[in-house]
Amino acid sequence: MSRASSTSSRCGGNLTDPQKSKPLRYAIVSDIHSNLEALNAVIAQIDAQRADALLCLGDIVGYGPSPNECCDVLRERDVVAIAGNHDEAAVRAAAADRFNPLAREAIDWTRTQLTPQNREFLAGLPRERRVDGFCMVHGAPVRHFDYIMDVTDAQHAFGRTAEALTFIGHSHVAEVYYQDPAGRTYQQRLLHGGRINVVPEFRYIINVGSVGQPRDRNPQASFALYDVAAQTVEVRRVAYDIERVRERMALAALPELLSERLVSGW
Ligand code: ZN
Repeated sequence: MSRASSTSSRCGGNLTDPQKSKPLRYAIVSDIHSNLEALNAVIAQIDAQRADALLCLGDIVGYGPSPNECCDVLRERDVVAIAGNHDEAAVRAAAADRFNPLAREAIDWTRTQLTPQNREFLAGLPRERRVDGFCMVHGAPVRHFDYIMDVTDAQHAFGRTAEALTFIGHSHVAEVYYQDPAGRTYQQRLLHGGRINVVPEFRYIINVGSVGQPRDRNPQASFALYDVAAQTVEVRRVAYDIERVRERMALAALPELLSERLVSGW
């Protein structure tokens, strides 16, 4: 597969801060979806692992009961974030037009809750960022809100980018797609976590899974740690207090189905 096709792209939005030394270990979260209990459980693990920087691949809000608290936790930790489709829908009226009725109901509620500061924070998020030689997008390179669900999707996605390492979320399924030098693409699910050794001959699209609404039949929160020196990416799963979130969702009168799916992880 040619890497120089006219549709291929380098990820934009360079992040450079000459004042700070380069992080060695990145904690990468995605699809928090206003689930504060799951986010706090993940943050505790991240602190225990002593990550140097926190990155978020979007969908901070939507579905869950704690949109402001989740924005506040991330902002306090100087998160480097990009926008997901729910973040855009929470701050732009037309962006929710294609949402299903349950997602729409939750985003309408979220709009009524967001503080002006958090609305401004979400509205200011770019759709892609390049950090330390890798790329962050919510769903897929170039077509940011496309879903990568299988090898065919990933093969097309690799064809649209020249990046060696891209981190994604959006499908809420923790997994890795990698492409060999001959252009063949492979998929490995990370339902119970796992470690990926990043080798220079291969290219990678790594889905870090969802913090706040996993859909890979494992209800535990998912996140990743990228160790730059070791060239490893570790996906971890973390148990959290699901019943507590469900109580908050009931108090906010959010749809029951959105609450039930947290239990099954689907
Ligand atoms: Zn999402």
